[in-house]
Formats: sequence, structure tokens, C-alpha cells
Amino acid sequence: MSDPGAAPNIPAPPGQQDNTYIIDPQYALIFTYTWVSVAAAAVLYRSPKLYRRFRNAWKRDGIHGWGLYEDLSPSPVEEEKESLMNGAAIKRTDSVRWVSVSPPVRLLRAVEAVFRNAFGWEVKYVRLSVGQLFLLVGFVLTLLLCLTQNSELLLNSNRAGFMVLSLIPPVFLLSTKNSFLAFLLSIGYEKLNFLHRWAGRMMFVLACVHGGLWINNRVINGQASLLLTEDKERRGIATISVLFLIVLTSIRPIRIFAWQFFFASHVSLYVAWFVCLNYHTPYAVPWIFPALAFYGWDIAVRMLRFRIKDANLLPVDDQMTLVHIPDASGGWRGGQHVRLRIFAGTQAFQAHPLTIINSPAPRSDKARTQGMLLGARVNGDWTLALNRLGKTRAWVMLDGPYGGVNMSPKERVLLIAGGCGVTFTLGVLDELITGVENGDRRLREIEWVWYIRSYDCVGWFVAQLQSLALRAHAMPFLDLRVRIFLTCPCGDPPEMLASIPDCVVNTDKPKIEDLLAPMLDFEVEDGEGRRPAMGGGVGVAACGPETLVRHAQNAVAAISPARAARCGGVEVHAERFNL
Ligand SMILES: Cc1cc2nc3c(=O)[nH]c(=O)nc-3n(C[C@H](O)[C@H](O)[C@H](O)COP(=O)(O)OP(=O)(O)OC[C@H]3O[C@@H](n4cnc5c(N)ncnc54)[C@H](O)[C@@H]3O)c2cc1C
Repeated sequence: MSDPGAAPNIPAPPGQQDNTYIIDPQYALIFTYTWVSVAAAAVLYRSPKLYRRFRNAWKRDGIHGWGLYEDLSPSPVEEEKESLMNGAAIKRTDSVRWVSVSPPVRLLRAVEAVFRNAFGWEVKYVRLSVGQLFLLVGFVLTLLLCLTQNSELLLNSNRAGFMVLSLIPPVFLLSTKNSFLAFLLSIGYEKLNFLHRWAGRMMFVLACVHGGLWINNRVINGQASLLLTEDKERRGIATISVLFLIVLTSIRPIRIFAWQFFFASHVSLYVAWFVCLNYHTPYAVPWIFPALAFYGWDIAVRMLRFRIKDANLLPVDDQMTLVHIPDASGGWRGGQHVRLRIFAGTQAFQAHPLTIINSPAPRSDKARTQGMLLGARVNGDWTLALNRLGKTRAWVMLDGPYGGVNMSPKERVLLIAGGCGVTFTLGVLDELITGVENGDRRLREIEWVWYIRSYDCVGWFVAQLQSLALRAHAMPFLDLRVRIFLTCPCGDPPEMLASIPDCVVNTDKPKIEDLLAPMLDFEVEDGEGRRPAMGGGVGVAACGPETLVRHAQNAVAAISPARAARCGGVEVHAERFNL
């Protein structure tokens, strides 16, 4: 690209501020300092989670924990698990223990619950929680304040242009899969995606303010011809046009119905936008460097974590395909997702996110699936082509793992899935059971719920479910209840279903509130009868259709703070299969 040089010397309209290139960048910086400070405060607040995640990853995978790995060590001698299975090795922890929690801790839990309630509520049509809306409104207000303070936009709208520039770094920081911020906050990149989208939209609105007011300025000052003759103006119009195309091609219907088009246009258009922007203003360069650094970091981390492995493709029926990668031994957790690319046919050009159904099994444990297991439900072209490959072996490229649940330990957990969201809750269930086998002393009750169409669909994962239920059943101190709610009792029940302990299948469609209510009831027997006790915490994780996930989030938000505090805190994790 040739050197764009200094800003062209266009005759300024009468009354225009002439120190705009000194004052306006300062407001762009003030905006930057503000969002960086808020992000730093959030990182500080979440630091215990980050620490716990690190500690667990280190305990589990040691130095290998930064990515997927294959365990090449000789198979260890089978350890004696009997004592653990019969309950001798793990002392059952009673809720009574929690009665003695000190008043300050109770107060803290109650305050935490008030905030969780207020911020956790998801608003129906906006598809954002109150907390997310709050953050968004703060973001927009800060932008507006920086835009309007000490500026005369009608005379000179450069401030809006500088605010567009100041949005470039956060837009990139919030978009990348290996974002520093998501890592430090210990959340999946997909949870920050809404801010990326809104920051992008704000960028476009501000660019329109900047461009629109300049055009107006030229027209009312009799300089309209400059819009067509001057490079600065023409490049500005090109920059706004490309930004408009980026916004247009990333609206939700396009993301849903033409993901590959959205992705390809997004990547190519932002490169075009950078080129136009650089030609339009020399002031863009310092703002583009951080963005390129975030993007470069993302690519570098992905390069380091990409793995190419052999995979067995196993279509269960014409709607579901299992992908088994035996050599991915560790460096991931059940419930996380990987982006999978299959080197077969034209599929190699697309990578799709799929959730891990199991947790890594020790090589000595021959009863469990070795390696990683994924399940892809036929949804569109790619998943259909994968299913049609039939039972075969292929090379796959894995990018990840990403996301996953990061809750503090809980005494009771409710896992809710709808449709193919079951891949997520199976992965989390496997992690929980493995945790108890490895000495988690708090978890005692799991309610695993699946809303699904018919018995045929239950057959997709009945083998995995049976194996998990038998493992849980072998530990008398852990109570796993499996509840399957069918939309239609059609098809034949899979044979294995009958051998799953404490498994109930019916055609009800209970409300999530009704499933949650018994989990919140912590009472203890003492000499004088039953009395409320402080519980060891309740965790809820939901994955499936939009409405199901929203209901789960809102059911938790509706719990009164006093009750949530008595339960020892109620945490919810909402997993969505759409970005
Ligand atoms: C975090 C996450 C985890 C997922 N886990 C599973 C799983 O375990 N099992 C399962 O069956 N499905 C899962 N999905 C959904 C799965 O990725 C899509 O069904 C698949 O990509 C559809 O591709 P397609 O070409 O067959 O269908 P299309 O018709 O192209 O797309 C169907 C839907 O999938 C979305 N989609 C398509 N490609 C992508 C992509 N590359 N990235 C994100 N979304 C995309 C589209 O927006 C659309 O809403 C997950 C999605 C996400 C975001």
C-alpha cells in the first residue's frame, strides 16, 4: 500500500474548529482507558476462577495442559479402585456442615445472589441478559460522552471518526477465538461475542455520523463538488460503504442461513476496510496495530494448538454421526468444544464447532472410551455430508478446545438438554462423575434431564448414558437421576435404556422451575424435626434451543436471594449452539 501521507488540505468551512486533531484523539484515548479499566476490574473479580482453572488443568494434564495431546507413556498398572467405589475412600459430606457457615459468608452469598438475580435475567427478544444489557448501555453511554464532550460535531465531525478508530482494538479483542480477555476472564470466546457485534454496529453508526455530517457540511458550504473530486472524501465514502457491507453481511439471518458466506465475507471485507481506512486517514495506523496484534496472537495460538489426527466416523442413523478420535488423549474437558475439519471430499474447506461428549479416560481404564468423542446432528450441508461418508476412517484437524463450564464445586447439579444440546450435558456429566471418582467430596446429587423428540433419538447416546449411569451408581454417595422427556413416544425404546439405573422416560414436559425446586430444598433432620440447612451449592447447566436455555437462566434468576444464599449459592451456565 502506498503511503497515505498527511491529511489533505481541504478548505475548512467557516467557524470550523482547527484544533480537532489535537483534542479529538484525547477523547478516543479516554474511551480506551475507560474500557480497559472496566476489563481489568472484571479480570480481577474473576481471578479466583482463573486460578482454579489453572490449578485444575495443572493437576490433570501438567505441562501438556495448554492443548490437545496424545498420551504415549506406557499403560500404567490398573489402580485399585474398589475402596473408592464402595464409598470407603470418600467420606460423605452432610449438609449439616453448611449450617455452621458464618454470618458474613451468608451475607456475601446473599449479596452475590441479589446481583446474580438482577443481572442473570434474559430479556426475550433482545436475547441478552440484564447484565449484558447493562454492560452494553455503559459501553454506549461512554462512547456518547466521549463523542459529545467539548466537541462541535455540526461544525466538525472528526470526533466521531476518532471514536470509530478507538473501537477497532476492542472489536478485534472481542472477536478472536483465543482472546486474551476471554482467557483472563476464564470464559469462552463465544460469551463475549455479543459485545463484538454491538461494538461493530456502534462503529458503523459513528462512521455514519462522521461521514454524514461532513457531507452535510460540504453541501451547506457550497463545496459539494469536493465530495466527488477530493481523494479524502472519496476514500471516506468507500470506507463507510465497506463498513456498511460488513454490518449487512453479518446480520443474524445471514449468520443462520449462510454461515460460510458470512465468514468469508467478514474476513475479506475487514481487510478491504483497513485498506480504505488507511488511505482515508493517516491517524488510523496506531489503532490498527493493536488489532493486528490481537489477530496475530489468535492465529499463532491456533497454529500451536492445531492437531491432525485419525478419526473413526460412525453414523448412528441418518440424523447423527459420532466422531471418535482415539489419539486425542487429554488437554480437553467434556463439555468444551473443538472446531473440526474433516479431510474428506470438499469438507476440508470448512471447520465446524462440535462439543466433546466424554471426559478423558486414563489409559488403564479399558471400560471407558479412550480419546475424544463428538456427536454431529444432521443440520445442513456439512453435517449431512459427514453423515453420508458412512462408517469410515478419515484425517481430521482439531482446533481448540474452547469454552466449557467453569463453576465452583457444588453439592447438587441440574443438567438440562434439549435436542442435540445433549452432547454438552453428557460431557459435563462425565466430568462430574470423573471428579467424584477422583475425590470430589462435595457433589452428591445430579439430575440429568433431556427433552428429546423420540426413542429413536434417545438411541444416539444410550450407550454413553448407560456407561455413565453405571459408573455413578457404583458410588453409593452419589445420586444420579436420569429423566428423559419425549415429545412423541414413537419408535421402539432402545434395549439398553432398561439397564440404566434410576432412569425415567415419559411424555411430560415439566417446567424448568419445577425441576429446579426440589434441588433447592436443603433441610436436615435433628432431634427436634426438620429444619433448613445451608446447602453446599446448586449448579445448573443448560444447552439446547434458545427458549430452553432462556427458561433455565430465568428460572435461576427468579430464585429469591435469601433462598439462593441458603442453598449455598446457585450458579447457572447457559451453553448455546449458535454464535
Ligand atoms: C459452541 C458450539 C458447539 C456446538 N456443538 C455441537 C454438537 O456437539 N453437536 C452438533 O450436532 N452440533 C453442534 N453445534 C452446531 C453445529 O456446529 C452446526 O450444526 C453445524 O456447524 C452446522 O453446519 P451445517 O453446514 O451442517 O449446517 P448449516 O445449515 O450451514 O448451519 C446450521 C446452523 O449452524 C450454524 N453454523 C454453521 N456453520 C457454523 C460454524 N462454522 N460455526 C458456528 N456455527 C455454524 C449456522 O449459523 C446455522 O445456525 C455447535 C455449535 C456451536 C456454536
